[in-house]
Amino acid sequence: MRVLKFGGSSLADLACLQQVAQLVKAQLKDEMLLVLSAPGGMTDSLVALASSAEQGFDYSEQWDALASRCDSLKVAVEAECGQVQNWPDLDELKNKLAGVKLIQCCPDQVRAYIISFGERVSVALMQCLLSSHNARYLEATDCIASTNGHIDAEADLVASKIRFQAALKVSPATIYIMPGFTASNEQGQLTTLGRNGSDYSAAIAAACLEAEVCQIWTDVDGVYSADPRYIKKATKVDFLSYKEAMELSYFGAKVLHPKTILPCAKAGVPCEIKNTHNPEAQGSLISNDNVSSEPVKALSSLQNLAMLTVSGPGMKGKVGMASKVFNALAHDNVSIVLITQSSCEFSISFCVHESDLPLALDALQTAFELESQAGLIEPVQVQRNLAIVTLVGDNMRAHKGLAAKFFASLAQAQVNIVAIAQDSTESAISAVIDGELCNDAVKVCHENFFTHIPSIDVFLLGCGLVGQELIKQLERQQTWLEKRNIKLNLYGVANSRQLHLDGEGIAFDDWQQKLAASEQAFDLKLVEQFVRQNHLINPVLVDCTSSDALAAQYVDFLNAGFHVVAANKKATTSSYAYYQDLIAATQKNNRKFLYETNVGAGLPVIDNLQSLFGAGDELLEFSGILSGSLSYIFGALQDGLSLSEATIKAKESGFTEPDPRDDLSGTDVARKLLIIAREAGMKLELSDIEVESVLPVGFAQGDDVAEFMAKLPSLDAAFSDRIQSAASEDKVLRYVGTINAGHCKVGIEAVDTKHALAVIRDGENALAILSEYYQPRPFVIRGYGAGSAVTAAGVFADILKTLSR
Ligand code: ADP
Ligand code: ASP
Ligand code: MG
Repeated sequence: MRVLKFGGSSLADLACLQQVAQLVKAQLKDEMLLVLSAPGGMTDSLVALASSAEQGFDYSEQWDALASRCDSLKVAVEAECGQVQNWPDLDELKNKLAGVKLIQCCPDQVRAYIISFGERVSVALMQCLLSSHNARYLEATDCIASTNGHIDAEADLVASKIRFQAALKVSPATIYIMPGFTASNEQGQLTTLGRNGSDYSAAIAAACLEAEVCQIWTDVDGVYSADPRYIKKATKVDFLSYKEAMELSYFGAKVLHPKTILPCAKAGVPCEIKNTHNPEAQGSLISNDNVSSEPVKALSSLQNLAMLTVSGPGMKGKVGMASKVFNALAHDNVSIVLITQSSCEFSISFCVHESDLPLALDALQTAFELESQAGLIEPVQVQRNLAIVTLVGDNMRAHKGLAAKFFASLAQAQVNIVAIAQDSTESAISAVIDGELCNDAVKVCHENFFTHIPSIDVFLLGCGLVGQELIKQLERQQTWLEKRNIKLNLYGVANSRQLHLDGEGIAFDDWQQKLAASEQAFDLKLVEQFVRQNHLINPVLVDCTSSDALAAQYVDFLNAGFHVVAANKKATTSSYAYYQDLIAATQKNNRKFLYETNVGAGLPVIDNLQSLFGAGDELLEFSGILSGSLSYIFGALQDGLSLSEATIKAKESGFTEPDPRDDLSGTDVARKLLIIAREAGMKLELSDIEVESVLPVGFAQGDDVAEFMAKLPSLDAAFSDRIQSAASEDKVLRYVGTINAGHCKVGIEAVDTKHALAVIRDGENALAILSEYYQPRPFVIRGYGAGSAVTAAGVFADILKTLSR
């Protein structure tokens, strides 16, 4: 005998019903029992009808919808294969609902009748579709004996076994069909086995009939590493132990009803999960025969929970307090999902389904009335809207570090853990968390435990030369990233006026048009909301602007859970207090703030400095050429060009800022020197840097670039004298930043032609770091320090660094 259970998703319409009939015929060899759910969604409609009637609402529309669905299914099936027998009595259902409405109360016995109506519909239809094979209707109420109420009843396996044997003897057949979800109690009254309970019916039947297998046919190929509806990258688990399946279903994997496994495990019946819509696919097999070695099998989550904490001086050391709590809840039929206790026994916390919360509070109030009057118990604390995320795998006990990885993953998802619990066999570790963050938590944990494809979710602010080049590099590197198993998505682009977001990822070919069409400006709240909606777990805001306003929001960005990658130097060079706030925000939020391109564009300066100083080195002296544009201009001066000619050439070659005064004023170099000084631990402000501008005082005033360029030749003669006099001493002019004895200065220096900085020109940068570890010869970094390609590459490298922990 084999037991095959088909779920509602396999029975939704005529096509599905026919598919099931076909599948059954193809499987036919020896005896089989089909256990059927209601057609998909019908039980929900029946539950809603009972509730409307109970509240005295007008339910006529709901009724019409249900009756017409039943009728059209019947008509469709009859058109295929003759008259449907055993059709459940819709008039009786209608009368029962009318009675409920009249008395505005729905006794459990009546509710059980109403909500199990759909199963009888399915069975009648399927019997007709299999009439050529003489399928025999088996009344579930004759077979499954239940205890414990009418709605969430428990099977009595011993009594059920006797009933099954008797029922099958009456008229033996090859195919039996039985409605799932239904049973009857000792008085012979109809009961139901809890929502989703047809799986349980099948398992009870399989155990009582000592079936060869209990197959659960549903709409997915098997048990997945996480709910495939939400986790696209979930993979099928081929083999699970009974214990693993039990933990998973108990903690929310809807593919199996939690009570299904126990009867199968007790009777040693293997349970198989198969896909009705893809019957060829190998399903998941649950048994104790195929022990696999992977430590972690799957991840599940349970939402809409509340946690109650009972505490007070009366709890400490007093025998029986815990049992009093749990007895009170059991007495009122409140099921407890998870329990934790503080080590000092001062409090007990436990989770219940939020729908059970009023009942649980009432039960506790009644049970502890006296203790609470005597001040021994404090008012029960309640935390609502919680979820439990559970990691399941029998072999976890043999591996170290899995719990640490689990909790680190939750931290990565910015999730605060409310409570934790582990089962005694270490097959499951659960964390109670904020319900809002449940999907994020599952996504990050799944990524870290199963897919091993880390993702980076980029939002680019600023689409100038560097921003555009970055987008090109992101596009070009997709294959490279794929090979390294990294998923890097660009989800948003913004300029100073517009923002374009796309949950599917921004297309590289038409982002400019889409951005131009946007009527929305960048707004942190909006991007935050987008991240939540799309459950992005590693969001990075990349600032390729030079905006002060954006730089002032970095702390907010970090607090909102974003990493920040900045080509913009405004934040690292704003007040020292803000700089410290930024560092504090990275630590508090476990997020990164990376700004490698702030000094030397793509050259690895900041990273090297941080590594050196992190390893205990100390800066003794620094000197360097830190501006690509000034490196270019001073090189050209050496070749005999005048200051104005050199500036025009640098501007035309794209080496200067759009306004060359930004370079010539020396402020940009001063900012870079300040950043280096701060890395070295100096608590300085920008105003502490001594700046010698290339331009005389007041020369840069006025705001027109063209006017400035027009008057620049007036400085040529004086400059040329300075160059001549340096040359007469065998020296060249360079724009140099120095840190010496705590003093920071940027300005023009005449350096010997043999000096290391004399050869630095044409846009190159050079940094000489004399330190405790690197002396008497300094540690030198040299290379092109300007240009959109190298800067974008530096930004790209920072983006990738957000993955390391
Ligand atoms: P049926 O109507 O066949 O009883 P259910 O909707 O009750 O189907 O259960 C199947 C659903 O369970 C799947 O569609 C899937 O979304 C959900 N599910 C949740 N967790 C898992 C998991 N770990 N593996 C497979 N399916 C899961
Ligand atoms: N039809 C019932 C429900 O939806 C039982 C089941 O489908 O397993 O809860
Ligand atoms: Mg189900």
